[in-house]
Amino acid sequence: MSKRQLAMVMDLNKCIGCQTCTVACKTQWTNRNGREYMYWNNVETYPGTGYPKNWMELGGGFDAAGDLQPGVIPNLEADYGVPWDYNYESLMGGMADSNTFHPHVSPTWGPNWDEDQGAGAFPQDNYFFYLPRICNHCTNPGCLSACPRDAIFKREEDGVVLVDLDRCQGYRYCIAGCPYKKIYFNPKISKSEKCILCFPRIEQGLPPACAQQCVGRIRFVGFLDDEESQVYKLVHKYKVALGLRSDYGTQPNVYYIPPTESPAKFDAEGKIIEGSTRLPIEELEKLFGPAVHDSIKTLKAEMKKRKETGMSELMDLLIAYQHSDMFRLDNHYYQEVAKQNKRNPLAPVDTRYIAGKFTKAGGHH
Ligand code: SF4
Ligand code: SF4
Repeated sequence: MSKRQLAMVMDLNKCIGCQTCTVACKTQWTNRNGREYMYWNNVETYPGTGYPKNWMELGGGFDAAGDLQPGVIPNLEADYGVPWDYNYESLMGGMADSNTFHPHVSPTWGPNWDEDQGAGAFPQDNYFFYLPRICNHCTNPGCLSACPRDAIFKREEDGVVLVDLDRCQGYRYCIAGCPYKKIYFNPKISKSEKCILCFPRIEQGLPPACAQQCVGRIRFVGFLDDEESQVYKLVHKYKVALGLRSDYGTQPNVYYIPPTESPAKFDAEGKIIEGSTRLPIEELEKLFGPAVHDSIKTLKAEMKKRKETGMSELMDLLIAYQHSDMFRLDNHYYQEVAKQNKRNPLAPVDTRYIAGKFTKAGGHH
């Protein structure tokens, strides 16, 4: 366990599935150098296959006794999807037809292949919601436990989980060990890579790119021990933000406000079935555990209170009027940490990224 822990809360009631977060992350970190197929941030349709395909069924994590569970390493073509590109040059000099403009492979799978399909029958009772996912920077990371090279570390100062690229030999046990499948193999450098929670931004007091750019303003970022932070209030004070699949035993530090309302079903004549709700509570229980009942109860009660009295700290928090209502980071804290560790907080990211616990100043081993 680290001394302090950063956390992110995502309000699923506000995610519009626009993928701005995905693009923000991709352009910042993963559009090059063997990372093209990786989505450190992805937004999947739930219910659905997710990314990689059927990740919830691929093992990893811990059982009730705390033992690491075996897991599967997803296949690039079948489970992630080969990233394809187009022959854009065919567009030069006029309109292209489908014979000339085409992807460079015949894709059979890719992220969001089943986007917006969801479950149920349209228009009577179909439903889905968007589930954005990043690495959970777990308190008990399955990836870290699985690594025989001790190449994954959790930073003392903020709990960010990183790969020491000096140390990693590309064995990929981490991928099997992570039940969220949020760590990826880079075939170009033969090493594993993952979301770094934009630590170079965080250290300057800025939120991760996915959170800063989020159009729906669904993401809150801060330290869990900071009682003034939005994440503390949502997770500990109001207990409305819950970990995803906490039953995997990794103690995730990304939390979710569950979908609180869903539309009513229609009968065969297209009339509203009073009192019905499309989104089965069992689905939410599966994702967020039994605490989802109390979370939804609290959210509904506060909504009602806000309507009746105009007052609710929780609703004001979730509306997130400005960025300062969503992010509480502290660059002075990081400057102090850097000073104590004799580190340069402004060093280039590549140096910082591989500066794990096995990297000695001035050399590798
Ligand atoms: S989500 Fe996976 S990759 Fe991220 S810290 Fe947890 S176990 Fe490791
Ligand atoms: S940018 Fe925000 S609203 Fe858009 S998909 Fe990502 S999390 Fe959802």
